[in-house]
Amino acid sequence: MNRRQELADSLALFEQRVSAACARAGRPRRDIGVVVVTKGFPAEDVRALDALGVRDVGENRAKEAAEKARECADLALRWHFVGQLQSNKAAVVAAFAEVVQSVDRPALVSALSRAAQAAGRDVGCLVQVALGPTQGELGRRGGATPAEVMHLADAVTTAERLRLDGVMGVAPHGEDPRPAFEELVRVAARLQAVHPTARVVSAGMSGDFEAAILAGATHLRVGTAVLGSRRSLR
Ligand SMILES: *Cc1c(COP(=O)(O)O)cnc(C)c1O
Repeated sequence: MNRRQELADSLALFEQRVSAACARAGRPRRDIGVVVVTKGFPAEDVRALDALGVRDVGENRAKEAAEKARECADLALRWHFVGQLQSNKAAVVAAFAEVVQSVDRPALVSALSRAAQAAGRDVGCLVQVALGPTQGELGRRGGATPAEVMHLADAVTTAERLRLDGVMGVAPHGEDPRPAFEELVRVAARLQAVHPTARVVSAGMSGDFEAAILAGATHLRVGTAVLGSRRSLR
């Protein structure tokens, strides 16, 4: 089977699962945005996804992302950066990203703002919230503590060329993801009370997107459920 057909089939299957989860949650399908995470997969796959109607793609490494975005510059895709980002890579990412979903510290806000100004672009930001154990546990997968979120959000809204779009979270490995997603949705509600346009709740990956839809996520970030296993590529 050719790759285009393979991707069409897995997108269709994924779409059925999203629709079924929306029906169970009593939510309209149009309330859920999907970012297809293409890390580890070649630019040709991004092109095939574009041809199949995908509009939002995600990457987690600055260099790989910048190269792919350049190779696909003729396509009307929105690029989301979802990985941990060092401040010295902010300029690379600000040059192509529509949204940085992993804003987790004040130094990164300043670096992104300077980079976005230099690039003459506006960059959307999601504050990444650490979910689950955060005190030096292996479970920590990046992110600000819920107590730090408000301060970071304020920093984003006062920074030139940055826009506060909402929050992002990754559920802890190997646990029921529901408490983590529910916590993220509570943090998002507190944030929206102060910043009403920060509506995005990015939660849910291939293994837990149905739980994220039930908990109230507005955006999913899915890689393997659409593209297959990354194991052969990395
Ligand atoms: C890789 C990645 C995803 C997608 O993961 P899958 O399990 O392949 O769906 C989502 N979010 C982040 C932050 C990632 O790094």
